[in-house]
Amino acid sequence: MPSRCSAYKCWNNSNQGYVLVRYPSDEILKRKWIAAVGRGKNWLPNNSQRLCEVSSYV
Ligand SMILES: [Zn+2]
Repeated sequence: MPSRCSAYKCWNNSNQGYVLVRYPSDEILKRKWIAAVGRGKNWLPNNSQRLCEVSSYV
């Protein structure tokens, strides 16, 4: 099953050749990513969720 980018309105997935990265384990960094994906403060990524390389959240 291809993994899809979890950013708001981003549909890039691994089948299209995008590199998808896991959310960082570092809490502070992870919070920055969560703020940047635009899904709201209460949204949390689960272990299978990824972000694509073109999303400049890092
Ligand atoms: Zn993306």
